[in-house]
Formats: sequence, C-alpha cells, structure tokens
Amino acid sequence: MTATIALLLLQASMHLFYAASWAMAGTLLGLQRSAALHWAGYCLLLSLGSFVFLAMPAGLPPTLGVPMANMSLLAAALLARRGVARFAQYPPRDGEGLLILSTGALALVVTGLDAPNAAMRMVMQSTLVSMVLLRMGGEMLGAIQREFGRVGAWLLAGPVVVLGIGLGARAVAVALRASHPEQSVMTADNPINVAVLLLLAAFSTLFQLSLVYLVVLRLVRKLHELSHHDALTALLNRRAWHHALLQERQRLRRTPRDTALLVVDIDHFKHLNDRHGHAVGDRALAAIARTLQATARATDAVARLGGEEFGLLLGDTDLEGARLAAERLREAVAQMQLVHDDLPLTLTVSIGAAVLPAAACRLYKLEQLQLKADAALYQAKAGGRNRVVLGVLDSGGLTLVAASA
Ligand code: GH3
Ligand code: MG
Ligand code: MG
Repeated sequence: MTATIALLLLQASMHLFYAASWAMAGTLLGLQRSAALHWAGYCLLLSLGSFVFLAMPAGLPPTLGVPMANMSLLAAALLARRGVARFAQYPPRDGEGLLILSTGALALVVTGLDAPNAAMRMVMQSTLVSMVLLRMGGEMLGAIQREFGRVGAWLLAGPVVVLGIGLGARAVAVALRASHPEQSVMTADNPINVAVLLLLAAFSTLFQLSLVYLVVLRLVRKLHELSHHDALTALLNRRAWHHALLQERQRLRRTPRDTALLVVDIDHFKHLNDRHGHAVGDRALAAIARTLQATARATDAVARLGGEEFGLLLGDTDLEGARLAAERLREAVAQMQLVHDDLPLTLTVSIGAAVLPAAACRLYKLEQLQLKADAALYQAKAGGRNRVVLGVLDSGGLTLVAASA
C-alpha cells in the first residue's frame, strides 16, 4: 500500500466517524442542530470523495468517479462554510455557493474526464476549494470574533485559512508539473499528494476540534446564563445575587469602601394582577426590571430577589450616593409609560436602602446589610409607599437617617 492510499483511507474513515458524531450531536443531543447537520454532511462528502479516489484504481469508471470525487470535495467545502454561517448566524450566501458549484461542474465539462486532463482538473478544483476556504476564513474572523473574541475566531479560522493557502499552493504546484498528467491523479504516490493529504488530515482534524470547542463554549455560556439569570426579567437570580454579595464582601475585606444595598418592592402589585391578570403583571415586572437595569450603573449588580422584589448592590457608594441612586430609580419607575387596553398603568416602587460605611465593612456580612435594607423598606411601605427610606449600618447597628417622598 502506498503512502497516498493509506492517507486516503485514513481520511475516508476519519471523516466518516466525524460525520456520525456531528449527526448524533445535531439530532440526539440537539446541539446547534442546523450547523451540526451541515458539518455532518461536509464530513460525509469528504469521506465519500476519498473513497471514490480509492475506488477508481480498483475499477470504478472515471466517467463516474472523477465527477463524483471532484464535486463531493467542492460541495463538502461549501457545506462546511454554510454550517459555520448557520452557527454564527450570518447569511449563508447561497447564490455565491451555487455559482462556485456550477463553475466546478462547468470546469469538469470543459476539461473532460479523461486522464490527460487530470492536471488541469486538479488545478481548477483546488483553486475553487481554496477560494471557498479562504472566503469562509474571512467570514469567520468577522462573525466568530463578535461572540468568541479574537482567540476563538483565529482558532477556528486558522486551520481553514492555512488549508486554503495549502490548496492554492497545490494548484500552482500541479500547474507547474502539468506535463506529467499521471502524477496529478490523487492516488499517485508523489510528494505533493502526500503533503496535501497530510495537511488535509491534520487541519481538518484541527478544524473539527475547534468547531467542537466553539459548540461546547456556547453551551457552557448558555448554561451559565440560564443558571444565573431570572427567566422572566433576565436580571440576576437569587443564586447569582448571593454570589455577587459574597464576592463583594471578599473585595471589601481587602479594600474597605462605602457600600450601599437597595431593596426595591413594587407597590400594590397584587392589585395590578387582580385587576388586569397575571400576564399583564408579568409584562409590568419585566418592564420595571428593564428600567432598573437601565437606570443603575453598569457596575451595579441588579437582581430579582423573588416575586416583585428586586435588589441592587452599589459598590463604592456613600449615603448621599445611595439617596441619589434610589431617588433616580424610584422616579424612573414612576415615569414609566405602561399601557394596557389603551389605558395607562401607573406603577410605583418603595425602596429601602442600607449603607455600610467603609469603617464598618469588616463587622457585617452583606446579607445582614440586606436585612437592614428590608427593614428600611418596611418603613417606606408604612410611610405611604412610593418613597425611599435610608439607613446607615455601623458599629451601633442600623440608624435610619433619611426618608424621602
Ligand atoms: P405592597 O405595596 O405592600 O408591596 O403590596 P403588594 O400587593 O405589591 O404586595 P404583596 O406581597 O401583597 O403581593 C405581591 C404580589 O406579587 C402577589 C403576587 O401575585 C405577585 N407576583 C409575585 N411574583 C409574580 C410574577 O412572577 N408574576 C406576576 N404577574 N405576579 C407576581
Ligand atoms: Mg409589593
Ligand atoms: Mg413584595
């Protein structure tokens, strides 16, 4: 067995295995279904192309084998590209794909299927596949970078670009040796074919690994997002909130700073549900959550603590800062323009705020600060709602220092 035949066999079986894995990932595991099925198709076609190259010296007629091998390799590259487009959610440029595919078919018609034109065929097909790969590499650098950053983009695009350049170089090398057509058949045992097949096996495997990496990375991010955010409002959930409190406490132990914690509760929310129904209540909750998030600073943690109650953790914020922030939030909600059945809905919130001065940072956990903010909220409700009550938690305990309406 020659080196090229062994490499073609490796290529064929390797990609058959990859095809089965992607098909399983896309169907049974439901991972990036559309992209995974495209990649299954790409691996299957690459495997088919390699099997056909192997079958030709064993008796498969070239009239069948040559178009099958050439077209399946070209279609494989186009499917890989389309799969990446589905994965990264950019338009798949099917018009361009069809044009490339028809150019490939036309090139076969022009060059004919017989051996003397094998070199010309190989130049044309390598050029087309190389073009698809380089276009795909360029697209990936843009689209993947947006979601996965520069490293992710280069990880995926790198092998594709190198393979594209490799195939381009092969086209040039074959063109220079066009006087030896028998040397250009894929199964011919020559250094160019061995190099191309080795390059293809190595980089295609690298490409597979980077696709798997991106699929897993996206899955992990999604799980993280789901386990840390509330489904209705997309704010941090209780688990993430407690994690944020814990982290802030550790930071405060190292560098004490004034810290404020706000508990926000919607006023008479039960009335809204009773009068307009739960669905309207849900929409109002989501709208208020958006207002709180938009009004808070980017560095503040904003969470849904449960029901119609929210928590905000404001780092580096003293009493005056907490008062301003709480008032801004209260006013922003009061000015929201919610409409149901053409009627405006007015909602207000009451806010309890507790400030932990830098000097008392080491005395209390932030969960204790939250209890104090709850106590302040209770006062705000008792005082008539739609208001802010603030307190300072120092070594003497909580002192309510201000209320506003
Ligand atoms: P107060 O001004 O004293 O806070 O009165 P309230 O009616 O807002 O407070 P109460 O605790 O009596 O009622 C809270 C209501 O919030 C009751 C519950 O049905 C509603 N609620 C809690 N979670 C959700 C939710 O996810 N969706 C909807 N639509 N309503 C919710
Ligand atoms: Mg309420
Ligand atoms: Mg409540």
